[in-house]
Formats: sequence, C-alpha cells, structure tokens
Amino acid sequence: MTVFNRFVPTEEHPSPPAAKMAERGSEEQFRSLIGNIPGAVYRRECFEPWTMRFISDHIEVLAGYPASEFMQENLRPFESIICPDDREHVSGVVREALSRGGSFSLEYRLIHANGSSRWVAEHGRGVADPGGRPLWIDGVILDLSAQREAEQLGDRAEVRHGRLSGHDILTCLPDRILIRDRLQQMLLRCQRDHFLIAAFLVDLDNFRSVNDSLGQQAGDELLKAVAARFSSVLRASDTVGRPGGDEFAILAEGLSLSAGPELLAERLLDAMKEPFRVEGFDDIPLSITASIGIATNDRDEPDDLLRDAAIALCQAKAQGRNCHVRFKPEMKTAAMERLELEADLREALQENQFFILYQPIFELDSVGVCGVEALLRWRHPVRGIVDPESFMPVLEETGLIAPVGSWLLKQACRRAAAWHRLGHHLTMSINISTRQLGAENLVDQVHGALAATALEPRSLVINVAEQSLMNDMDTMVRRLRELKALGVLVAVDDLGAGYSALARLRQVPIDALKIDRSFVAAMADSPEAISSIHTLVQLGRTLGIETLAEGIEQGWQLASLQDEHCRFGQGSLFSQPIAPEALEAILTLEPVVPLRGHLPRQSRPASTIRRRNC
Ligand code: C2E
Ligand code: MG
Repeated sequence: MTVFNRFVPTEEHPSPPAAKMAERGSEEQFRSLIGNIPGAVYRRECFEPWTMRFISDHIEVLAGYPASEFMQENLRPFESIICPDDREHVSGVVREALSRGGSFSLEYRLIHANGSSRWVAEHGRGVADPGGRPLWIDGVILDLSAQREAEQLGDRAEVRHGRLSGHDILTCLPDRILIRDRLQQMLLRCQRDHFLIAAFLVDLDNFRSVNDSLGQQAGDELLKAVAARFSSVLRASDTVGRPGGDEFAILAEGLSLSAGPELLAERLLDAMKEPFRVEGFDDIPLSITASIGIATNDRDEPDDLLRDAAIALCQAKAQGRNCHVRFKPEMKTAAMERLELEADLREALQENQFFILYQPIFELDSVGVCGVEALLRWRHPVRGIVDPESFMPVLEETGLIAPVGSWLLKQACRRAAAWHRLGHHLTMSINISTRQLGAENLVDQVHGALAATALEPRSLVINVAEQSLMNDMDTMVRRLRELKALGVLVAVDDLGAGYSALARLRQVPIDALKIDRSFVAAMADSPEAISSIHTLVQLGRTLGIETLAEGIEQGWQLASLQDEHCRFGQGSLFSQPIAPEALEAILTLEPVVPLRGHLPRQSRPASTIRRRNC
C-alpha cells in the first residue's frame, strides 16, 4: 500500500494536499518528505475520538501500532492511545484552538502497545471551509522522550553538582521547600479560580526493613523506582516531590471533590502492586506498599494543608497501612493528643520517669512465691501514674520501646540478681514486644544484661505475646531459639486472647504458657472458659510445658485452677504489682518456692490464702 492510498478523501474535500501531490505525480517527493520528518504527520477529524484520515508510518515507532489501524473507523481511535490522564487536557487545548480558528501546541503522553508511556509534542492547525466550519486538523506528533531524558539527566547532573536548588538529590524530585512553594502557588490560584486542590502524603510501609535486609543502596534504588512509578501515573500538571526519607508528596489540582482524591490515591496504590526490580538487585523482586494521607483545600497556608495530610497519613498507618485516608477535622484532636504523648514519652526516658513494679508469681498448690513479673509504669508529671496499656502502643510505633525495653531488661536483671544474693531465688519475667523480638540485637542485649549482673540465665523468663508469633514466624522462631541457646526461659503470654498461634506452638521452643486473664475472669459464667483452660493445661502437659494463669482475683478461681492442675498463677488475690521494697517484705514472710522442684499437691482452702496488696 502506498502512502497515498491511506488518505481517505471526504465528499466535501476529495483532494487533501497529499492526494493533490500524488495527482501531480510527485509520490516519491511526498514519500521522501513524510519519511524524513522525525514524527507522525497526520490529518484527523476535529472531534474525539480523533479518527485519522491519514497518519504517516512514524506513528508505529511512537505507539507500536501500524498506521493503517488508526485510519479504519472504530478500529483504533487515536484517543485510545492518549494517556487517560492527559485526554481532558488534549481535548481542552484542541477545542479552544478550533474555536478561535488558530493553531495549537501541546505536550502529553502516548501509551505504547508495550504498555510504556512516552512524552510527545503535537503541533496542529484546524482547517475550516470558507464558511468557517472546521473540517479537519493537520498536524505532526513529535517524540519528546529523548529530550525529556536529557533534561532529567541535566537536572541530575545539576543536582549532583549542587546547582539545582529545591530538588532532592536522590530522586531529583522537588524537595520540601519547593513542594511548599508550589503548594503556595496552587493555593493562590485556587482561591482565585475556585477549583479543588489536594495534597497527598505517601509513606512507604516498612521501608526500613528493605534498608535493614538489603542495605541502603537497595533502599535508594527502590525510592528512585517508586518515584518513577508515581510520576508515570500522574498528570503533567501534578507535582510529585520527596520531602524526605521514605515519604513522597503529591499535589494535584482540578480533581472532583467527591471521589477525585480517592481515585488518585487508588491509582498510586495500584502503581505499587507490581514488584519492583531495582538496579543492582535484578534477581530480587521487591514488594512494598504505601499509606496515603489526603487533605483538600480550604486552608490559606501550605503548611496547614501538609499538616492535615500528615494527620490523615498517621490514621492510614493506624488502620493497617496500604490504604488511604482523607483528613477530617475530628482527627486533629486525637492526632494532637498523640503527638503530645509522643513528645512526653521522649522526655520521660531522659527524665527517668519510668519505673518498674513487680507482681509475684505463685506456685498454686503450695501458694508460695516462685517468681515475679516486671511491669513498666510511667510517672507523668501531670497525669500521675500511667498504665502501660495507654502508652505501650506508642512506644512500640515510635521505636522508643528499644531504649525503654533495654533499660527495663538491665534493671530487672540487676534486681533479680540482688534478690538472689539475699537468698530469694525468684525467676524474673519480663515482657518483650513484637518490635523488640524482631530486633537483631535483642540476643546480644539479653546476653549483656545477664553478664553484667551475673544473673543465671535460667532465672530470666522472656514473655512473648501470642500475637507476636503471628507475625514473621521464621524470624520469631529463630530469635526464640537464639534466646533459648543463652539458657533463658521463654513463656507465651496472653494465650487465647484473640489470636491463635496454638497450632504453631509445637514449632516454638517454649517453657511456659500464660493463660490470658480474660479466661480466668470468665470462669464464673462461661463453661467454655473453663473448658478452654482445661484444654490449655492439657496442651501444656502434652507438650511438656508449664502453665500459668493470670488475673486470679477470687478464691474459688484459685480452687478451680488447682483442680485443673494449672501449676502457676498471679493476680490480685495474691498481690497487685508492687514496688520492690514491698515485695521484699513479702519475701521475708514467705519462703521462695523453687520453680522446678517437685511439690506435693495440697488442697488448701482459698480462705486461708492471704491477700496482699501494695
Ligand atoms: P501482661 O503481661 O498480661 O501483664 C499482666 C497484666 O495484668 C498487668 O497489667 C497486671 O497489672 C494485670 N493484673 C495482674 N493481676 C491482675 C488481676 O488480678 N486482675 C486484673 N484485671 N489484672 C491483673 P499492666 O501492668 O497494666 O500491664 C499490661 C500489659 O502491658 C502487660 O500485660 C504487658 O503486655 C504490657 N507490659 C507491661 N510492662 C511491659 C514491659 O516492660 N514491656 C512490654 N513490652 N510490655 C509490658
Ligand atoms: Mg506479661
């Protein structure tokens, strides 16, 4: 087929320029002219879907489809290869040019048959009949990808040489200051023209683990790859920047207020779904998700919008990550309180506001003390004594649990060693959170604390919540084995409190099961609670593991637990968590029962057990 045959003359205009050239017998001249233009020359309809009457072969280089496909009605409308995000822009510019009978120039992305996108520049002109009725558009589409790449390389080089201020060195994206400037401009425009703008803060979930496991270079490459993915799904008019760390900021305007921001956020999350292959780590596909906080206009200051997006981002993280949340005013109070709590906790560590209470653990048959559990408390300068349940999640999320946990470990070991020296051979139980258990240095820390205090390893019991075992099982089991290799004991805490790692217990090297206090509390009116306790005690027996019941408050609960042959327990019936001095007073009255010694079972009426409180 010759170039000329691809013209589709209309009734009104049977002789477009190329056809006329053909009639003049200058086909070769025309072919050479079109062939030498580094772009796709076309004549197309004036309205969407921009059906082509003619387009030169170069379109196949740009889009991956043969030119003929674009010229058959409905087979491949040109609109279908314009990036969906850019269609509105293209249409707006072209319509505007046609309405004033002028020419247009625009830049947008074409979607190639292989799925990639490339930047093109289009220069066109509407052709009208003598009455001014638009007939068609003549124009050319030029490839811009090389130019864009050169620009980017130029930018990077400039950034590398410190010449391009306002850009992040790693990704060459706008940095915090430039993002703020651009947002300021957008806010001014939006106040004038009344359109919607949205700020998105995107934080990668668990990015730290990429750096930790593969090194910082892999982390850097991943950040660059994520930046490229985000850029590929955004419109040319949107801004994507990197304010710092593993956080990206996206500024978009002209979205519809109802669902527009959410649709864009979904697109960003979708863009993360395909695993990343990063330079230097080609054989390791990296999967990562992101959390997104969204804030829309109605603010005068860029900082207010960014702060609200950050609050919504925190909410998205709290909701389980890999999701997006739009800011609502009521989030602000909770976020402020949370920020205050975080700041207070940082201070608490420096100001020595943490202290430890010890709750005695009893051998149920003999009702003798055999150990203690160290429980963290916070003496807040205004709020008074704060229980761990109100601040432990924040310690865990902020990573403050690492220094606090390490401090508690040393303190507890020192205390236990001192009691041993006084002849009270108690076991010391400490609670280890999921994050602490995941930390590579935990074993070294435990080893260090034991060595520094000369506490024998078998006197230290590490309590691990059942929930922790539901996470990365392989890491957890490895960590528990490493701890056991030091000679310390391991207990699974909060057993049955809503998680079910029971099926996995055989894989875990443990010495004791701690039955959650909700079972003990429910014993009065729930036969299921009694049968659950029975099952857990039997499971312990089968696996050769001791059982301990928490939250024993009533004499009859103790009697029932004794009947179930649950060996150990703790609870307010015996003693609340108390200060070390109060515990020492108990120890002088009550001899310590050796943990693993054989003790004959005694049926001791509950009424004879003294209740001790601090
Ligand atoms: P847990 O390990 O299950 O600790 C037992 C909790 O039961 C303690 O609450 C204790 O005060 C409470 N308790 C004791 N006897 C009774 C009773 O008869 N009835 C009732 N209703 N409760 C009783 P606490 O001290 O508020 O600690 C709550 C949780 O905070 C602990 O649960 C533990 O998961 C966590 N925690 C405490 N200290 C630390 C710590 O140093 N590190 C870590 N990672 N977690 C800690
Ligand atoms: Mg515990």
